[in-house]
Amino acid sequence: MNPRIGQPELLKEINRARVFEILRHARTISRPELADLTGLSRATVSLLIDSLLQAGIVREAGLGASSGGRPPVVLEFCPDAVCALGARMRDYQWSVVLTNLDAAPLDREQIEIPGSSAEAATEALARAVENLIQRTRTRRILPALGVGSPGLVDMRSGIIQSATDVGWFGVPLKTMLEERIGLEVYLANRSKVGALGEHWRGAAIGTQELIYIAIGTGVACGIIHRGELYAGTNSSAGELGHVTVVPDGPLCPCGNRGCLQQLVSDPALARSARVRLREAQHGLLFERFGSQLEALDAAAVFAAAEAGDELACELLDEAAEHLAVAVGNLVNLFNPEMIVIGGQSGAGSELFVEMLRRKTRRRAMTYPLSAASITTAKLGADAAAVGAAVLVLQHAPDLLLGERMNSMTAAAPFCGQQSRHSCRS
Ligand SMILES: [Zn+2]
Repeated sequence: MNPRIGQPELLKEINRARVFEILRHARTISRPELADLTGLSRATVSLLIDSLLQAGIVREAGLGASSGGRPPVVLEFCPDAVCALGARMRDYQWSVVLTNLDAAPLDREQIEIPGSSAEAATEALARAVENLIQRTRTRRILPALGVGSPGLVDMRSGIIQSATDVGWFGVPLKTMLEERIGLEVYLANRSKVGALGEHWRGAAIGTQELIYIAIGTGVACGIIHRGELYAGTNSSAGELGHVTVVPDGPLCPCGNRGCLQQLVSDPALARSARVRLREAQHGLLFERFGSQLEALDAAAVFAAAEAGDELACELLDEAAEHLAVAVGNLVNLFNPEMIVIGGQSGAGSELFVEMLRRKTRRRAMTYPLSAASITTAKLGADAAAVGAAVLVLQHAPDLLLGERMNSMTAAAPFCGQQSRHSCRS
C-alpha cells in the first residue's frame, strides 16, 4: 500500500494531476466545467487554476457562453509554456529530445557514448542535455529528465538490474545521472517508454489498452493498461523477447531455449539470412552480400523483401510466424485494443506487419482478436525519447506547482554538475 495514502499533500497532487489532464485534453474549458468534471469544489478548482495561471500554462481567453447567469471565463491550455526533456540510449548513443507539454518534439540532440561504461554514458548524456538547454535559453524547462535505457530497470530505485547488450549489472543509473546533471531523473526500460511515446504522440493516441512491441537488438514490449503504463511487481513486465516460442530452439543468454528474440530480433534475422545464403547462392541478398556475409544486417533483409527477393520474403515470413505465436498469446491474455509494432530496421514496416496480421489470425482467439488492431508504429526511432519525456510530463503538475516549482526559473533550469542542491533551495 502507498504509505502516503491519507496524506493531504498526496490528495493535492492527485487533484492537480486531474485538473492538468482535463485541461490538456479539453484545450479550452471554464472553471465551472472543470468543477463538474472533477467533482472538486469551485473554490478548490479556482485555487488550482490560479497557480496554473501563475505558472503560465493556462491563460484566460475571453468569455464563454452563458447558461443563464454571468458568462464564465474561458481557460486555454498553453502547451508551449514549459518544456520537458527525454532521452533514449541505444547502440552506445543517446538521443535526447526537448518537447512541449503535449510531448511534441521541439529540438533534438544525438551524442555518441565513447566507451561502454555507465560513467561514459552518464557523461555523454550530461553533455547532450547541456547542449539542448543552452540552445533553449528562453524556454522554461521542467526540472527533471526522463530516460529510456536498455535492460531490466527497477523503476523505483532507478537501478539497472541487468542490461546484457551493454554489459551493465546493478548500475544505479538514476543516481549517477541525478548527481551529474542536477535534475530529477525518471528511469525506465526503453520499450516501456516507447509505449508511452506511441500512446501520447504516435499510432495509439486515445487508446486505453495498448501493447507496443519494439524489435531491434532484442525484443521487448511496453504495456499500457487503462491508459497507464503497466510495469509489473518489480518493473520487469514486458520481457516479450524471453517468452518461449520454440521449446527446444536456440539457446538464449538468459539461459532458456527458443526465446522469441533468438528468432525475430535484428541479429537473429541477419544470422538466419547468412545461414541460408550459404546454402542458396542466388537472389538479391546473395548478389550484394555473397562475398561479405558479415556485412549483412537485418535492414538489408527488409530492403530485399520490399524489392521482392524470394529468400528475404521467406525469412520475414518465418520471423512473422514466430512473432505471431507471441502476439496471439498477448491478444488472448490482455485483450488489447491495439498492438503497435516498432523496429529500427524494418520490423515496423507495413510489409512485415501485414504478414504478422495474417499469421496472428491463426494463433489468437477470434473474439479478442476482433477488438485488436495490429499496426505499425508512427514515431520510429523517436518513440522512446519522446516517451521518456512523457515520464516527466506525467509529473508536470507536481513539478510545476509543487515546491520544486519555486526553484525553476527561465534563466537557470539546469544547474550543472556541481550544484544539484542549489537549484532546489
Ligand atoms: Zn531468453
